Parts: sequence; structure tokens; C-alpha cells
Amino acid sequence: MKIYIGAPRGFCAGVVRAIDLVEIALERFGTPVYVKHQIVHNSHVVDSLEAKGAITVEDVDDIPEGSKVVFSAHGSPPEDFAKAEARGLDVIDATCPLVTKVHNEAIRYDGEDRRIILVGHRGHQEVKGTMGQTGMHLVDDREEMNLPDWDDDTPVAVLTQTTLSVDDTKRSIDDIQNKFSNAIIRNDLCYATTNRQSAVKEITDKIDVMLVIGAPNSSNCNRLREVAEAQDVPAYLLNGLDELRPEWLEGAENVGITSGASTPEYLVQQVIDALEPDEVIEVEVAKEDITFVLPKELRD
Ligand code: SF4
Repeated sequence: MKIYIGAPRGFCAGVVRAIDLVEIALERFGTPVYVKHQIVHNSHVVDSLEAKGAITVEDVDDIPEGSKVVFSAHGSPPEDFAKAEARGLDVIDATCPLVTKVHNEAIRYDGEDRRIILVGHRGHQEVKGTMGQTGMHLVDDREEMNLPDWDDDTPVAVLTQTTLSVDDTKRSIDDIQNKFSNAIIRNDLCYATTNRQSAVKEITDKIDVMLVIGAPNSSNCNRLREVAEAQDVPAYLLNGLDELRPEWLEGAENVGITSGASTPEYLVQQVIDALEPDEVIEVEVAKEDITFVLPKELRD
């Protein structure tokens, strides 16, 4: 068996920064440190931080007054910060800077009297955080197209969730542009999302099946699976080696493997080792050397 492995894959700069922030908080302030929402969408990462003393909660109201809390990489609505202030919490904000950029765009275009359309997935934590910034209309590419019934010449700004499918997002943006003549398009898909999907597209003509290592609630992992399926390659999302099903690989001589932005690399290596391939070929479409700085008060 040959394995074709996508590159880049795995952790992005925003995930590395968020995990670092929880670890630094634990070292510096001791336990417990609360984390609002899974710090990143991967249960292995969450479990390992919880083993060190982190406590993950969904609601700020569940955190004891005066505690330290890290807000997750996906971003949070202003009401969560207000609740934290009311409870006297010390907030360390692990929102990815590329998500903060989308928040700032929303505030800026709202201030310029543009109506805002967000292309994103209803209920996803990042979408909750972005939609909390100001009023906006959500277009979800998994639902029937529901463009707002504003006049066609309404000044509009179009923002996107960072972890969507490149191709599906382009279709949604095309539809929006066809209706609104005065639309500013801010395609906010992040570099990590784009690169991991490009790597999958580069592999799919070489393989019989694609394995995406990552969590079922990870948006970018699900999009990687869909990208492979869109190229008519059967694709499966597994959270780790224990979820690998032998029947997926029946008759497969060439297997593709990748992982999402919140998946630790050791989970990928465990799957590769278990398959005992004759050859592992890395297919690299881009180099990534992006890092994000930590908040000033937590540096050194
Ligand atoms: S996937 Fe993109 S937006 Fe999300 S944390 Fe990583 S770099 Fe930031």
C-alpha cells in the first residue's frame, strides 16, 4: 500500500497559539483554569489540557466568580465578555487573530452603513462570535439559499467564516454578487483552510480512499472530507486510530491521509504506522511559516 499524505496538514498558527495560552495560564496561575468552549475542536487536545487542570465549560455563568478563563480560538460574542466582567473573571482571549480580523471588519462596515452578510454555518461557535459583533444576515451553504430581501442597490459587505469550503463559498459569493450591485467581498477563508483543501485536491487523482484525521465537530476537518468526496473519492473522518474501520480500506492500494487544523500530528502518525505502508509520499502544496504573537501580558 502507498500512502499519499497532504501537506500542509494539522495544527495552524491559531490553534498553536490557543493551546499555548491555556498551558501558559496553567503554569503561571495554577489550577484550575477555565476554558469557555472547547479551546479547539479536538477532544484529544481538550482531554490533555483537562488532565493538566483545565476545566471546559460552555457558559460563562458556570465559571466561579474571580476565576481565570481562556476564551476559545473560535471567538466569542461581546455578551460573553460582558458576562465575564460582571462575574469578575480574568479573561485570556485565545480568539485566533484571523477571526478577530473578521470581527473588526463587521464593526467597520457597520460603521460605514453597509448591511452585512456572513457566509457561515449556523450554530458554529465562530459564527456565534461573529454574529454577536453587530447585526448581520447569515447565508448557510448547507441550507436553501436565503438571500436577504434588501433592495438590490443596498450597500453590502460580505464576510465569511474562516473554515468553509473554498468552492462552496465561491458559489455563495457569486449568488450574493449577482443580486447586490454594491457589494464589498471580504473572503475571510484563512490560509490554513485554503492550503489544507488544496493539498487534498492535489492528492485525490492518485488515491482510492481518503482518510481525514480529526474531530467530528471540526468544521475544517469536515470540509476536507467533502473536498475529497466532491472529487468522487470515498472519504472518511476519524478522530483517531480506534475509529479506523478495515472495510474502508478493502481493495485500496493508494490511500490519502490528511488532518484538520485542530488535529495533533501524533494521531496521524498512529494511523500511518498501523497501516504499515510500503511507501509514504508527502504531497506539499504550500509552506507555512505563520505564527501569531501571544498577548503582551503572557509573553515570557
Ligand atoms: S483554522 Fe484559520 S482561523 Fe481557525 S484558528 Fe486556524 S488559522 Fe485561525
